Amino acid sequence: MKIDFHGIPRVQLGYLPTPLERAPNLTQALGGPQIWFKRDDLIGLGLGGNKVRKLEFLLAEALNKGADTVITTGAAQSNHARITAAAARKLGLRVVLVLRGAPDAQRQGNLLLDNLTGADVRLVRWTNPAERDGLLVQVAEEVRAEGGRPYIIPLGGSNGLGALGYVAAAQELQAQAGQLGLNVTCVITSSSSGGTQGGLALGAKLSGAPFAIWGISADLRSEALQQAVIGVIIEAARLLGCPTLEPGELTVFDGYVGPGYGIVTRETVAAIRLVAQTEGIFLDPVYTGKAMAGLVDLVKKGTLGSGQTVVFLHTGGTPALFAYQKELSESKW
Ligand SMILES: *Cc1c(COP(=O)(O)O)cnc(C)c1O
Repeated sequence: MKIDFHGIPRVQLGYLPTPLERAPNLTQALGGPQIWFKRDDLIGLGLGGNKVRKLEFLLAEALNKGADTVITTGAAQSNHARITAAAARKLGLRVVLVLRGAPDAQRQGNLLLDNLTGADVRLVRWTNPAERDGLLVQVAEEVRAEGGRPYIIPLGGSNGLGALGYVAAAQELQAQAGQLGLNVTCVITSSSSGGTQGGLALGAKLSGAPFAIWGISADLRSEALQQAVIGVIIEAARLLGCPTLEPGELTVFDGYVGPGYGIVTRETVAAIRLVAQTEGIFLDPVYTGKAMAGLVDLVKKGTLGSGQTVVFLHTGGTPALFAYQKELSESKW
């Protein structure tokens, strides 16, 4: 079924469709389901990743509203901040990034790339989401006081509008699977601020796709993540004028977070090394490494069996590898 986007404006930022690629060696190594990768890490802009699809809708709105400065937030190693900076620059917009980190945070990985874009990076601390969002409003006022026109993008680009990028991605994946004659049973994605999983789940339902969308948490406990995802779905459904999903229709796993957001576990490192060594594909330490650790474990437990065809969404994040040298490298040479 074709999804009606009601002419909601979108700017083209990524190369679409992204590749859907078989992973025969990883499939063999795990001895369970057929595994494929949906390569949103190869989407093209600013070293790629899932935020590009969201920004196609978000920045179209920013341009339509006459904004000249984009403000967003995230962790010091935020992929979302890096991609937002790259996309905004491409569209001729200024960028302020309000990032959580120490002023002397290592200028590596995403922070280095933020710096290259000329974004105005503010490394600050906050203790809760309300305080963080208050900081964004403060920066917007500052921009306005200087005669600028700010546009705030929320954490992870995860509101209903941003999630439309992944509503469209579900449709794109279904079309690709159809062309390949693939009977995809399950899509596994890292999930954090909810826009990716929410958009995919809504898009899969609207386009009558047969696959389930399983989110592997990068930080939140299941209940909080489900709430985040459903919140985004309700907003997106309102924009599309379609029914929403019930919380019971969402599947999330929170058993692979480890000690917390951005802290790599032994299983994360093993998963990153396994995929690099079998498929020549680099995952990231914060999101996709944990999601892959989840996939490996779900195969081990038999939750994902040999009759299934699983698509692992590579949501990007690879620049963060360079900020995790200590945790990731084995001293073999
Ligand atoms: C932001 C991000 C995610 C999480 O996506 P959400 O839409 O925030 O749930 C997953 N993987 C990578 C690499 C990301 O940068």
